[in-house]
Amino acid sequence: MALKDDWKETGKDLGGAFKQLGKSIVKSGATVVNKANDWAERDDAKEEAKKEAEVKKAQEEREASKVVCPQCGAGIENAEAFCPKCGAKLGE
Ligand SMILES: [Zn+2]
Repeated sequence: MALKDDWKETGKDLGGAFKQLGKSIVKSGATVVNKANDWAERDDAKEEAKKEAEVKKAQEEREASKVVCPQCGAGIENAEAFCPKCGAKLGE
């Protein structure tokens, strides 16, 4: 009788524990999804910023170059007679 009651109680406790576990799993699952969304958005923003930075850097590098190909716009660091990229003749 006492043993049976104990089991009953244990079962109840277990059920409560599983209920709690299920709740926390659902809760953490939702948290993970929210975090994943946050990260996805953050990654998009990061990717966007990276692209902008790359474009800006390319522009700066082009502007910093002494010679710019009039044909393709490639920056040529060393003064050459022809553009190494498209072969256009450089000069005045
Ligand atoms: Zn060129």
